[in-house]
Amino acid sequence: MPFAFYLSPQKSNFAPNMAHVIPEDGTQLPLMEEFYTIQGEGFHTGKAAYFIRLGGCDVGCHWCDVKESWNAELHALTHADQIIENAGKHPSKAVVVTGGEPLIYNLDYLTAGLQQNGIKTFIETSGAYPLSGHWDWICLSPKKFKAPTKNVAEHADELKVIIFNKSDFAFAEENAKLVSPGCKLFLQPEWSKSKEMTPLIVDYVMNNPQWEISLQTHKYLNIP
Ligand code: SF4
Repeated sequence: MPFAFYLSPQKSNFAPNMAHVIPEDGTQLPLMEEFYTIQGEGFHTGKAAYFIRLGGCDVGCHWCDVKESWNAELHALTHADQIIENAGKHPSKAVVVTGGEPLIYNLDYLTAGLQQNGIKTFIETSGAYPLSGHWDWICLSPKKFKAPTKNVAEHADELKVIIFNKSDFAFAEENAKLVSPGCKLFLQPEWSKSKEMTPLIVDYVMNNPQWEISLQTHKYLNIP
């Protein structure tokens, strides 16, 4: 059965009948943008990939740099077959599905289609919703505002914790207890606090070498 996705404080700007009715089988998704670029952060830094950004997020990080993604109704429902076709047009056969919070939606159809076309599937998620989809790489970036689900944490290949203030180091360690022993561990300064937080992260990683530093290199490169 399809479900209507109602979100966001700006909703009063929209008549009720404009709410998206998103099919539960994931054949259509609210696509905010798609673009070919270089993965700027985390384990796959420096690799070319096609980014698929889905609209819709209710996690509410105050420092979020893609707040325009929050309201799913602002982003056109797009057939997953079209997204798969677009992704296949680029030299790198790898996609990063991001948001917003992409796991709000059933991603089984999209990711099965991508993999059937020889495209590797990576996801960036807060883990706030149950896991769906077929993934070659799961990057869990948990947020204090909505805890990650157990099944996302257990399947994560990479844990990337954003450091906005000193208390986030303890939050990182709490989340490291939730992931599997082989999961890669990254600490990443929140962009607006990076001057202040990066030296602390450097010290922390030198004293706790199971962690690595992730930087948002795409912002230094001035690419999307
Ligand atoms: S989970 Fe991501 S998209 Fe959602 S509010 Fe937080 S940073 Fe923004």
